[in-house]
Amino acid sequence: MPNKILKVGKKAKKDLIYKCSKCGNLQAFITGEYASACEICVKKDIKQHWNETNQNILVATKNIKKVIENRKSSIDKVSDRITDFTGSMFFVYFHIIWFSSWVIYNMDVQVAFDPYPFGLLTLIVSLEAIILATFILISQNRQAEISDMRSELDYEIDISSEKNSAEILALLTKIYAMMKKEKRKK
Ligand SMILES: [Zn+2]
Repeated sequence: MPNKILKVGKKAKKDLIYKCSKCGNLQAFITGEYASACEICVKKDIKQHWNETNQNILVATKNIKKVIENRKSSIDKVSDRITDFTGSMFFVYFHIIWFSSWVIYNMDVQVAFDPYPFGLLTLIVSLEAIILATFILISQNRQAEISDMRSELDYEIDISSEKNSAEILALLTKIYAMMKKEKRKK
């Protein structure tokens, strides 16, 4: 059965090792990742595509962000945007301008709608603080979740590398023993 191909610039459909159609270079792509051109063939200006191999790969760390991104609910997206905005200098400038103009305007007793000690302003700012704090917490919880997932993945990768090293070591020992035996025969 011929292997399926993955064209450069298309999204990979599986977590696999892919083989360059022209030079045989191997590269891993993760589901949903756009296939980049083969590094070796690009230098030589050769057009290529990727062939699927049978080698699955353990989903690598860089995929985590994508997984989380896909999982985001609309509330998560809103809270992320609000948190980003809250953490910007524009947010600080906006408040400085807002507070100072509010205070200056209300110093004039003739036109004041919120005279000293600015009860309405205090109320608005308290409510704003409560709502912002909640959104920041939502964002932070998700960040923690990302970290958790990442460390869990690191652990899995560690285990799998450990297993691989153990296998390689066992294989080497076997080869070494065989070589020794061969030498003795001569
Ligand atoms: Zn190539």
